[in-house]
Formats: sequence, structure tokens, C-alpha cells
Amino acid sequence: MDLFEYQGKQYFARFDIPVSPGGVAYTVDEAVAVAEAAVYPVVVKAQVQVGGRGKAGGIKLAANADEVRLHAGNILGMDIKGHLVKRIWVEHASDIAEEYYASFTLDRAAKKHLLMLSAEGGVEIETVAVEHPDAIVTLHIDPVDGLSLATARQAAADAKLNPAALDGAADILVKLYDCFTRGDCDLAEINPLILRPDGGVHALDAKVSLDNSAAFRHPEWDEYRATEELDERERLARTHDLQYIGLDGTVGIIANGAGLAMSTLDVVNQVGGSAANFLDIGGGANADMMAAALEVINFDQNVKSILINIFGGITRGEEVAKGIVEALGRVNLRAPIVIRLDGTNAEEGRAILASAGIPESRLTSKPTMLEAARAAVAIANGAN
Ligand code: GDP
Ligand code: MN
Repeated sequence: MDLFEYQGKQYFARFDIPVSPGGVAYTVDEAVAVAEAAVYPVVVKAQVQVGGRGKAGGIKLAANADEVRLHAGNILGMDIKGHLVKRIWVEHASDIAEEYYASFTLDRAAKKHLLMLSAEGGVEIETVAVEHPDAIVTLHIDPVDGLSLATARQAAADAKLNPAALDGAADILVKLYDCFTRGDCDLAEINPLILRPDGGVHALDAKVSLDNSAAFRHPEWDEYRATEELDERERLARTHDLQYIGLDGTVGIIANGAGLAMSTLDVVNQVGGSAANFLDIGGGANADMMAAALEVINFDQNVKSILINIFGGITRGEEVAKGIVEALGRVNLRAPIVIRLDGTNAEEGRAILASAGIPESRLTSKPTMLEAARAAVAIANGAN
């Protein structure tokens, strides 16, 4: 679950990570009240879960109440890359000497935590990674050992942070690592982490993604759940217990089992296509879940073909087929289906599909995953 900046900063504060004093506001009047308390000048920041808010006009400095009114009025209700601004964060504006980047994530392949640190902060880290990869210091941390202050300070020195920032940055890195581990984050990122002219270091932005698997030990996350903004596809998927992740390709994918779904993504890529999503309908999927899965995929305007890859174990072929027939009767699918149906009761499933009278232009069946992927990709690429 991704947090808004203001929630990330509140989360940081629990772990003693210094942030600017401020508050969240839903109206212009609230924004002024928060600004008065935070002391002018302040910065008014759109709360949307997308980067580059500054360039889009979503971050403005304000020296007094009139300027807060002006900017808060403009920013509330603004559309930033398809995200509607419903709330703003107003905080005391900081003087900036330098902007850095710091984050912790999990490196699954290395089975370790990963610190990324750069003296080139403020811009998107992807851009730094492409243009100046040497400017990013990476450090693997063994979860058993943790991160010591000395190691954090050395990493900051290696990243060539200003000598004046080393102590402050090391202190924040250790706290951010604590937030990442004890706080059960998938990602804890500060960009920019700033050095002020007075020598202080603090977090000017917060990007926190919480590990949903740890939600059971964090009742306090409920308040974040309440403001969570899912797109229509994700919301529908969640109500049907489907494991869905939206991507930006053109082949909609439905498979049973996470491993098979991932393999399907790989095969689609391998034959020159791109996946529009990851969707696992689970081990014991029935007709209802298949129909719901097709509805979720149908929301996605980018989908040009739908690849259904089922290897039935507990999932039975005739249930899958019934779900497809049901979905075709219920929703007007915009894209044609290519299916590979194998395993338990596959014969029965294929017979149901064959007798349903679905035209070949809407549904074709292929005997292997590779052939099915080729057919789906051919349709998707031809449709562009
Ligand atoms: P993002 O671009 O959406 O990630 O938003 P950030 O919160 O990272 O802010 C973008 C940029 O706005 C920062 O890199 C700063 O250059 C600038 N900025 C944000 N807050 C302040 C502030 O308090 N004072 C000053 N001078 N600049 C700020
Ligand atoms: Mn930022």
C-alpha cells in the first residue's frame, strides 16, 4: 500500500526522522490555519501519488496568508497526471543548500536489504541511474546485522555528500532503516533529503510503500487504508479476491497461480508483446472468478487481446470455460480471447467453449502456452 507524502512524513516522525513542521488541509481555510501554525514562509504541496508534482504546478511557496489562499485554491482540485488533488500538505518552507537521495528496498535476489544513496537528489532517481550511474552508491545490508551508524556514515561519505551533512545523514539513514524494517515497508524513500545552510539535515519529501503482508501487526494502518486510492481495475479485483497488478502493455493476462502468471508475462515478452497486467485467479478458481477477471481486464483501455493461460490442478477446465461463456454474456469484451486450457477437465472445458457458438474472431484455443502467447501478441500488435 502506497502512502501519500503527508502520511509518509507522519510515519517517518514515529521513527524520529526529522521532517518540516506542517499539516494536511482539505480546504483553503484549513490551509491558512496550518500555515499560520507552521510559520511563514510555507510550501503548499499537492498530495497525489505521482512524482514530478513541482513541474506540474502542484508545489508552491507562499510568504503570507494571501499567497496560501491563492495557491491552495489553485492546487486543490487540480489534475496531476490523471490524479485529482483532494488534499494538500502545508509545511514550513526550508532553505536548501543541497538535495540528496536516500532509499531502502529489499533486494530479493541478494536476500538482503538495499540502501541507495546519492548526492544528486531532487530529480527522479531513474534519471540519475541512466545519466550518472556512478553517482548512486548502493549498499547491501544483512537483515541479521542491521545498519550501524558507522556504516551509514561511510556510505554517506562514499556517496560524496557534503562533509557538513555526514553526521546528520548517517543519523537519518539509521532511523530510515529502522522505519523500513520495524515499520514493515517495501520502500522507504527520501527525495530530496536536504542539507540546510545552517548545517541541519532533514527529509523534504517522503515516499513510503507498506508491505501488505505485515498489515496484521499494524492496526494503525487502517487509517491509511481509508484514504487509499485504487484505480477502478484494482478496486474491482480486490472485491473479487483477485491478485491483480496493472501494467502498461496491451496483452491482458489471466492465469491460475502466481508462478504461471509470471511465466505467462515472460513468454508474452519473449515473443515481442507487452503485458497489460498480472492477474492470478488463484488455485481453486471457479466460473464466477473467471467472469470477474475478464471484467477487470475489460476496464483497461489499452488491452488489445486477452491471453488466458490455465493449467488446471484444483481449478477445473469446465469451470473456467463456464466463466468465459458467462462473462461473454455479461460484459461486452472489447478484446478477443486466446486461451490455452490444459490439466484437470480440459477436454470438458474445450467442449463447453466449442458448443457455446463463440465466433473464432472472439475466441481461439491453442494447445501450448507459447502458441497462445504468439497468437495473442499477433492480435495485440496488429491492432495498433
Ligand atoms: P516531487 O517533485 O513530487 O517529488 O516533490 P518534492 O517534495 O520532492 O519537491 C520537489 C522540489 O520542490 C524539491 O526538490 C525542492 O527543490 C522543492 N521544494 C520542496 N519543498 C521545498 C521547501 O521547503 N523549500 C524550497 N526552497 N524548495 C522546496
Ligand atoms: Mn520528491
